[in-house]
Order: sequence, then C-alpha cells, then structure tokens
Amino acid sequence: MNYKCPVCKKEWPTSLQVARHIFGTGDKPHREWVGSKGYSYIDLLLEQVSAPGNKSYEIMSKLVEEEQDKIK
Ligand SMILES: [Zn+2]
Repeated sequence: MNYKCPVCKKEWPTSLQVARHIFGTGDKPHREWVGSKGYSYIDLLLEQVSAPGNKSYEIMSKLVEEEQDKIK
C-alpha cells in the first residue's frame, strides 16, 4: 500500500517520502493542512533546517500516517 498526500493525493511508498514532498512543496494548501493538524509549517521547516536529526520529518510522517484512512 502506498501512502497518499492528504492534500494533493500523490502517492509514495513510504510516509517519510510524503513528508518530504509536503516540505518540498510548501504551497498554501499544504501549509494549511499542516496548520489544521495543530502544527506550524514554518516552525517545522525551520526546526528541520536548524536542528540535527529528522524530528520534523518524523512528526509529519506520523500526521500523514494518521490521515491515510480519511483520504478518499
Ligand atoms: Zn501533496
């Protein structure tokens, strides 16, 4: 089963790749979706570029995974 982007419905084999896509796209619909989940897109992005590790990607991956059964 592939993971779908909750916003544009593109698919990737892993949720981490979807997370990467969301950070890489960063247009208004994707930013607003992150906001609707209670996170600030900008804060996650800043943390990703300024802090070591992949914490922001991990948070985003989890949001993507939790959303999968809500995507039609
Ligand atoms: Zn997308």
